[in-house]
Amino acid sequence: MTVKNLQDLLDEGVDGRHVLVRSDFNVPLNDAGEITDAGRITASLPTLNALLEGSAKVIVMAHLGRPKGEVNAKYSLQPVADALSDELGQFVALAGDVSGEDAHERANGLTEGEILLLENVRFDPRETSKDEAEREAFAAELVDLAADDGAFVSDGFGVVHRAQASVYDVAKRLPAYAGALVGAEMEELTKVASDPDHPYVVVLGGSKVSDKLGVIEALADKADKLIIGGGMCYTFLTAQGHNTQKSLLQEEMVDTCKDLLERFGDKIVLPVDLVSAPEFSNDVETTVTDVDGMPEDWLSLDIGPESVKKFAEVIATSKTVFWNGPMGVFEMENFSQGTAGVAQAIIDATRNNGSFTVVGGGDSAASVRVLGLDEDGFSHISTGGGASLELLEGKELPGLAVLND
Ligand code: AMP
Repeated sequence: MTVKNLQDLLDEGVDGRHVLVRSDFNVPLNDAGEITDAGRITASLPTLNALLEGSAKVIVMAHLGRPKGEVNAKYSLQPVADALSDELGQFVALAGDVSGEDAHERANGLTEGEILLLENVRFDPRETSKDEAEREAFAAELVDLAADDGAFVSDGFGVVHRAQASVYDVAKRLPAYAGALVGAEMEELTKVASDPDHPYVVVLGGSKVSDKLGVIEALADKADKLIIGGGMCYTFLTAQGHNTQKSLLQEEMVDTCKDLLERFGDKIVLPVDLVSAPEFSNDVETTVTDVDGMPEDWLSLDIGPESVKKFAEVIATSKTVFWNGPMGVFEMENFSQGTAGVAQAIIDATRNNGSFTVVGGGDSAASVRVLGLDEDGFSHISTGGGASLELLEGKELPGLAVLND
């Protein structure tokens, strides 16, 4: 089975053709609605520039946040259209709807080398519907925006693990190609998924154990060490009998964590000290204690310096590192040191060991840039969190499978 890629499409010729592109523009916004990390926009440029240079009429589909099938100005793609205009150096029009009258008028009016961004595809409930007929009806409307000689380029790596209308169903209705970003992501991530050099160290953080359970199970076999920090480590620490007070806890997962610790205890590495605060705020006092010494009723929002040291020692032995999920609430300065310290240890492993180091995911990738770390210090920074995890778990990704001939 082969997947046609962007170069195949360019070789066939895109001059004057409508090309529907699925990009991942799910960027973080601050309270003022400003983009705080444009990494995903930058990552989309190679595909979009190549199509525009080839004189295609480009129509981009993307989502932002979780508007839950309703039009909501808070999740409008307008900030993305503005940022993309700046990055591309040409005006990117935003349609007033997703697949309605305005989108049709604007798509029909495109001339060679022009680009149109459709409104947030998740404003339409059919985008994520479990009902295939509903998704297909929506996909048909999207495909209708391209003329008879249209094509589809799948470039939203962050969504290829979803069988959604603009990712999956559209691909069945048009000649479909993998975009430059999807191609590059697959190449790098496959190196980790298929045959990593050992020692292979996996670093997991983020908020929920349940989200990462599949990957913990799958990687516990393959990896030599599994470092666990972030919001999910407290459920593991509780499973070990520690009292983590009011820290994030998934009570229903404690037994599962006990089981994982029994089976993979020699591989799993947990924090030894914690940064805690009386409430979830950057403007309160903080304290560092060992895992048993947290003040009553406080909550831990980061791993402590001894944990960073312990994790860094393990990372320093690696030949391959995969990291997904921040070590603490890195968005608040007082709780960003754990993530920054672990990220720096991974950068050092790249530089000093020639270790192949991959950052998998939205939040972790954003944290690298938000914390001002050196992006070049990693072998690869993936744009997709869930997608890269599912790939490493060995799951089939519907948005990629559908591109196979
Ligand atoms: P995820 O979306 O599962 O990757 O989780 C990322 C989020 O986890 C980030 O927004 C972090 O702020 C959050 N997080 C990390 N550590 C903690 C913690 N100790 N308590 C609460 N949230 C956390």
